[in-house]
Amino acid sequence: MSQTSQVIKAEELDPKFKYEISKIHGAEKLMLCFQCGTCTADCPVSRYSEFYRPRKIARMVQLGLKDRILSDKHLWICTTCYTCIDHCPQDVDVAHVIRVLRNMSVKHTNLMPLVYKELAGNLMKSGFVYMIPESRIRRREQAGLPPLPKTKPDEVAKVFELTGFTKLLENSETFEKVE
Ligand code: SF4
Ligand code: SF4
Repeated sequence: MSQTSQVIKAEELDPKFKYEISKIHGAEKLMLCFQCGTCTADCPVSRYSEFYRPRKIARMVQLGLKDRILSDKHLWICTTCYTCIDHCPQDVDVAHVIRVLRNMSVKHTNLMPLVYKELAGNLMKSGFVYMIPESRIRRREQAGLPPLPKTKPDEVAKVFELTGFTKLLENSETFEKVE
């Protein structure tokens, strides 16, 4: 996605890629995309990025540009707002396709954004994605708000372990910026 007019070489096309992706939960309708561009037109991130285009992501997968799309850090700037899903006339779950690609990307490149690693670490430690400071908990009490729900970080850690996510977190490198 980062280069607007990159030549596509036949040898970089993986014809099986679209089938591989379409078997994964959330990405089943990828092949229904007929490239209308509604997702890109309505995507709030595309409005501010020169390169990020959900329509293009769907096309790259359909074409089989596996290495290129899985190595593209722009995958990580989707906010998962689901506007594309709401507006797609073909019912393609574009944001879920992107989630599937992100998961594959981490395995393919051994890279994930630093912020994701930090948030996953918080979840494992506290059961919350954000570490909630004591001062905020006190302020809630002073304001008469109910206590925060009890979390079960041990169970979160168990799920992470069983799914292989802990290992992935330990072994992956991070990056901070998408350029
Ligand atoms: S809105 Fe749906 S059909 Fe149109 S380009 Fe996006 S994914 Fe494809
Ligand atoms: S979910 Fe991602 S791709 Fe879809 S509209 Fe929101 S930011 Fe754009």
